[in-house]
Amino acid sequence: MNSPLPTPHSALQFSVEFFPTATPEGLVKLRGVRDQLAALGPEFFSVTYGAGGSTRDRTLQIVREIRAAGLDAAPHLSCIGATEASIREHLAEFREVGAKRIVALRGDLPSGMADPGEFRYASELVAFIRRESGDEFRIEVAAYPEVHPQARSAASDLQAFLTKVRAGANSAITQYFYNADAYFRFVDEVRAAGVDIPIVPGIMPIASFSKLARFSESCGAEIPQWMRRRFEAYGDDAESIRAFGLDVVSQLCERLLAGGAPSLHFYTLNQANLTTALIERLQSK
Ligand code: FAD
Repeated sequence: MNSPLPTPHSALQFSVEFFPTATPEGLVKLRGVRDQLAALGPEFFSVTYGAGGSTRDRTLQIVREIRAAGLDAAPHLSCIGATEASIREHLAEFREVGAKRIVALRGDLPSGMADPGEFRYASELVAFIRRESGDEFRIEVAAYPEVHPQARSAASDLQAFLTKVRAGANSAITQYFYNADAYFRFVDEVRAAGVDIPIVPGIMPIASFSKLARFSESCGAEIPQWMRRRFEAYGDDAESIRAFGLDVVSQLCERLLAGGAPSLHFYTLNQANLTTALIERLQSK
C-alpha cells in the first residue's frame, strides 16, 4: 500500500464537494464554480446535507442543477433525527432527479433538537437504503483515518466502519487529514479485515489557517505542529499562507496517490480557485 510507485497523474480521478449555499447570490456564484471545476473532469460532485434536514430543499436543488448540466451529482443524506418514512421520501426525490450515488451519514444532532429519530448510526441508514432500493444507488460512507472524535476507541471506530461497509457501502470518503501515515495505516487495517472497497482521501485545501484551525478542532482533524507553527508565523500574510498551503496539500496528494489512493475528494468550500490550482499541479506531474 505504501510503496512509492509512479502514478499517472494526468489520469487523476477526483470528485468535489459543495455545501448548499443559503442565498440566491451564492447559488449564482456556485454555478460558476461548478462550471470551472467541471472543465477539469471530476468523476462526480457531492452536495452536503444539513443534519436534521435543514438544507433538504437546497441540497436537492443543487443536485438537480448539476444533473441537468449533464454531470454526476451525489446528494449527502444524514439520518440523525430522521424517520424511515422521511428517508423513504428522500430516496424518491433522489430517484426523481436521477441521482445514482448517495453519501450516507449519521450526521450530528443539531443543538436544540432532542429527538435522535429512528436511526442511531450510519450503518443503519446504509442497511435501510439497501432494503428499500436494492442496488439502485451507489453508497459512499465516511471514514476517519484519525478516528472519529466521539468513538470509544480506534478499534471500535474501525469496527463501526466495517459494519457500514458490510451493510452495503460501495466506497468511502475520508475526513480530511494532513498526516498521510494515518490514512495508510487505516487502509491497511481495513484490508487486513478483508474489506476491499475504495477508500478515497478527503482533501481540504487551505485558504485561511485560522478558519481551518477552528474547524479542525470540532471535527477531530489534526494539524501537525510543524504546519501550525509555519502558518502562525505568516500572520496576516494571505499570499504566503496560500502558497505554503498549496505546497503542503499538493505534496500530501502526491504521496497519497503514490501510495495507492484510488482517487481524491476535494472539500471545495464552494470555491474553485484553490482546488483548481491543486488539480492542475497534480495533472501536470
Ligand atoms: P457513524 O459511522 O454512524 O459513526 C458515528 C460515531 O458512532 C463514530 O464515533 C463511530 O465509531 C460510532 N459508532 C458507529 N456505529 C457504532 C456502533 N454500532 N456501536 C458503537 N458506536 C458506533 N455531516 C453532515 O451533517 N452533513 C453532511 O453532508 C456531511 N458530510 C460528510 C462527508 C464526509 C466525507 C465526512 C467524512 C463527514 C461528513 N459529515 C457530514 C460529518 C458526519 O456527519 C459526522 O462526522 C458525524 O459525527 C458522523 O457521521 P458518520 O456517518 O461517520 O457516523
